[in-house]
Amino acid sequence: MASKSSPYPLTENKNFLSALVGLLVFAACLAGIGTRLFLDLASFWPANALLLSVFLLRPDLQRAATWIAAMLGYVAAEILAGTGLLSISLLNLANLTGIALAVGLSRMLPAETMRLHHPSGAIYAITTLVLASAGSALIGAFAGPILFVLSIPDSLLLWFATELANYAIIFPVAVALGSAGPEKFRVFSRRKDVAIRQVLALVFLGGSILAAFALGGPGALGLALPALVWCAIRFRPATAALLTSATCINLLMAGQSGLLPLHTDMTSATDVSSFRLGIAVLAIMPFNVASLNSAWRNLHGALLHTSAHDALTGLLNRAAFMEQAALILDSRSDNAPISLLMVDVDHFKSINDSHGHPAGDQVLATIGHDFKACLRSREVLGRLGGEEFAVLLPDAEEHMATSIGERLRLAVESNHLVLPSGETITTTVSVGVATVRPDQSLTDLIHAADAALYAAKHGGRNCVVPYSPIAASVATRIGQARA
Ligand code: GH3
Ligand code: MG
Ligand code: MG
Repeated sequence: MASKSSPYPLTENKNFLSALVGLLVFAACLAGIGTRLFLDLASFWPANALLLSVFLLRPDLQRAATWIAAMLGYVAAEILAGTGLLSISLLNLANLTGIALAVGLSRMLPAETMRLHHPSGAIYAITTLVLASAGSALIGAFAGPILFVLSIPDSLLLWFATELANYAIIFPVAVALGSAGPEKFRVFSRRKDVAIRQVLALVFLGGSILAAFALGGPGALGLALPALVWCAIRFRPATAALLTSATCINLLMAGQSGLLPLHTDMTSATDVSSFRLGIAVLAIMPFNVASLNSAWRNLHGALLHTSAHDALTGLLNRAAFMEQAALILDSRSDNAPISLLMVDVDHFKSINDSHGHPAGDQVLATIGHDFKACLRSREVLGRLGGEEFAVLLPDAEEHMATSIGERLRLAVESNHLVLPSGETITTTVSVGVATVRPDQSLTDLIHAADAALYAAKHGGRNCVVPYSPIAASVATRIGQARA
């Protein structure tokens, strides 16, 4: 159960979650402490980025208990590693200042910004990460000369670069894993042609990383960028973020341990800072592309849905119905029966006249809803226009289609719509049924169902009439009389 004001489950035990965050920070600190290669500063320090990700993606956990649990996590890990009290205090002050600044900024941004549904979301997210890094660096600038042999400018730059690289590597993964979405963990597309392009992107990424190791030198980091951008376009956000993150961690660790021949001995703070800034940019670019791509996909999906559906009933519109019906008819096997129901509301004009157009709209929406409830998902239902609906029934012989038509007719007849004024509207529909013959096209099938519908109207309405030559001659006569 979720309340209107909170999108998060009320049954969740927030204290438990806060404690869990503390444990996460503790584990991340231990992992980070294992990577202290340059001076006594970690090459990769995931704790801050993980904590900030939790705060940005779950603002409801921005509470005192989580801050305290996180602080305990930081301190416990450092004590376990034998770090001195002064170091613990200064390092954690730097860590928490950056996170607090970023949390403060995020509170000024519109809710859901960090979920990146909008193209500008990535820009806000990156700005927040830069601010968090700058906040830590401001404290780090003064901690550096005290804890290590670093000047204030060197310490400022090194701290900033290190923090930004960590945030850029971790945050995109957290956003992608934290956001909802169907099949977010599916790596390869179900479509073979797309899956082949995904494999090509992976091969290119592998080749680029190998080239970086083989070639080395100052440009080595940039070699992986085109492949990562390609992957960001081809893969779902979670996979793209994990690929970028894994590549960046691999290059970061290899660069600092000397495995990646950068032709610098990585002994100066400026070299290390430059390298870590390069890693940050390498991680941020694909994140930007993946965010834009995901926003574009959402927008495209919404537009496709709108263009194929009728706004009043939510059913397929005429063009989309025709397209789907044609596809089903074209792909039918020789003897498979397919039937079409044409449904028209009886005396609908008089409903509009006596109750008003909005009430008429409500009747149409209710009928659409009732029809949907009566049909199975493979049966194609559409609103062809006005008060006319159509249903394509794959694998349905005439007698089966007639009984489905009867079900629809009964559903409308038995549904009494109560208006806000207290008035009740009862309505009925007439249904024409036609079953496709081997040589018939969709247009022929529609003509036949239309003729049966005319016969149903002529026969007194509120009935279901299957196509017959007599029905066709009734339709022709009515048509001639109208002409
Ligand atoms: P019949 O039993 O012969 O089908 O009579 P009818 O009154 O249903 O048929 P007619 O074609 O004379 O009138 C259809 C009416 O449907 C006329 C039009 O104003 C109304 N209509 C069409 N689209 C909409 C709509 O989206 N909303 C509402 N409220 N009315 C609509
Ligand atoms: Mg009509
Ligand atoms: Mg009508």
